[in-house]
Amino acid sequence: MPEETIFSKIIRREVPATILFQDDRVTAFRDINAKAPTHILIIPNKVIPSTNDVTPEDEGVLGHLFIVAAKLAKEQGIARDGYRLIVNCGRHGGQEVYHLHMHLMGGRPLGPMLMPAG
Ligand code: 5GP
Repeated sequence: MPEETIFSKIIRREVPATILFQDDRVTAFRDINAKAPTHILIIPNKVIPSTNDVTPEDEGVLGHLFIVAAKLAKEQGIARDGYRLIVNCGRHGGQEVYHLHMHLMGGRPLGPMLMPAG
């Protein structure tokens, strides 16, 4: 079994978070350190540490992350102007929490995706 992180405790509601959506496969909650007016994390309830660990059996839940992202973007009023979905992986990707998650960010122009290559 992969190691649990703080996100498993959020899923089980053992630590507080502003949960906006939850079903049997996915949980979505506001990022504690928002980098945009809307900054939501959408995560599989099952622990998948990173995209390096996804398997064909995860196809359904990973697709579901996008369905929930689109639903939340509409509910949060950011769908029309647009938003960014980000999944960081590993050290170079800047991943801090090893429970795969999709960032849904919007509510202002987010600027270029990356700094120029250096
Ligand atoms: P990563 O860098 O791994 O892609 O993003 C991890 C995100 O999780 C960060 O944006 C960070 O602010 C958020 N985060 C870390 N710990 C907590 C927590 O305990 N609660 C909430 N709501 N967000 C957290």
